[in-house]
Amino acid sequence: TERTNCADVLVIGGGIGGLSAALALTRKGLRVRVYEKAPEFGEVGAGLQLAPNCTRILREYGLLDEARALGVLPEHMIMKDALDSAELTRLDLGDVERRYGDPYLVMHRSDLHRIFHQACVRAGVDLVTDADCTGYENTGQGARVSFADGRVDDAEAVIAADGLHSIARRLLVDDEPVNSAYVAYRGAVPFEQVRGHDVHDKAVVVYIGPKCHFVQYPLRGGEMFNQVAVFSSPKAVAGEPDWGTPDELDRAFEGTCAQVQAGLPLMWRDRWWRMFDRDPIDTWVQGRIALLGDAAHPPLQYMAQGAVMAIEDGWVLAEHIGEQRARRSAESSGVDWERAFAGYQAVRTEHCRRVVLTARSWGELWHLDGRARQQRNKLLRARDVYDYSFTDWVFGPTALRPEDEPELYPRIPLDSVAL
Ligand code: FAD
Repeated sequence: TERTNCADVLVIGGGIGGLSAALALTRKGLRVRVYEKAPEFGEVGAGLQLAPNCTRILREYGLLDEARALGVLPEHMIMKDALDSAELTRLDLGDVERRYGDPYLVMHRSDLHRIFHQACVRAGVDLVTDADCTGYENTGQGARVSFADGRVDDAEAVIAADGLHSIARRLLVDDEPVNSAYVAYRGAVPFEQVRGHDVHDKAVVVYIGPKCHFVQYPLRGGEMFNQVAVFSSPKAVAGEPDWGTPDELDRAFEGTCAQVQAGLPLMWRDRWWRMFDRDPIDTWVQGRIALLGDAAHPPLQYMAQGAVMAIEDGWVLAEHIGEQRARRSAESSGVDWERAFAGYQAVRTEHCRRVVLTARSWGELWHLDGRARQQRNKLLRARDVYDYSFTDWVFGPTALRPEDEPELYPRIPLDSVAL
């Protein structure tokens, strides 16, 4: 098969992870080609929360102003009980910005994806669609990928950002996505549709309830309103294949407060997202092939760090590549890929392991019922709203080396709640 013009590195998957990594590598002077399976680059038009550990990177890429203009900087993140709507705890996001140096931003996923896509176009990334990658192999001098239509391509290295159902991951581990039996419904609507409802137009609000939770926040400068409804599916628990259907959505939120009830009819009912994560693994690299984003560490979304981690991965990888790079020659980009990949893997696997496991335990804490719910509420109400021990290790600067990863990584005191 004829090879097209030469790229130093191939990125498989043009989601937020793949495109942001392609941009980061291009900024280090590499020639990058991205292969995306879908006929077009794009993302679903729902909301995304970006904590300061992500907006810091957007700033460095010169993309923060544009992201800010398209998004919303909420003033607070408020956690409420989904049954009685009582406030449990909050974060002052103005203070969060002062503490961490960059804002907490919420925006439309498709807007963020487009920002990265346009930045890739400007940076000269070669962007290829309709390319379903089915095979990966190390060649000795580099790595080769092959596609369902018979195409092949090779380069010095391959970054696999092919998401939750990653094929590249099979090189490293024989695992399956872990089914949480929870499902998410989304809905982003014009703000007009919730005017008059008891909603906050300048906050991210999370209502936590028995086996369910409900998230609300404004988008697009306040013109739109985003909602996410998440619940445990009885059909999934019973092992039935047809799970997460709209009848289950209606039943899951029976007994929740008026604010949640008012939001439910606005959810999209023709599409839902079954929630899977994977157990953490500590090897993401095989030779010249490295995993990135959900392919490496898909989380349950409860910490809102999935896309953020993917963006951090690309930034960290590019920093290590920048450090391990000699002058370009006719034969080589000059990158010492073994060292760069080793540096990336050494720091990112541990950080992402913590996030994936912490997200699971947040889910447990949020979804409690009965006496355990009461005890949890007491615990959350007692929290000093300016105590940052639970956010410092996440929102602080992204570590480039394991020794820079914060040691303090507080666990949620689930033990003190009688389950
Ligand atoms: P993906 O977005 O899955 O992209 C993978 C890409 O690879 C896709 O474009 C796909 O078409 C392509 N691809 C797959 N296979 C192939 C192949 N064989 N060949 C070529 N291309 C291929 N994260 C946050 O940071 N903040 C949030 O607030 C947040 N909220 C969330 C809410 C919900 C309800 C859900 C479900 C997730 C949420 N996340 C959030 C998580 C976040 O969406 C993901 O972690 C993130 O999108 C992962 O990006 P990715 O690029 O690694 O993978």
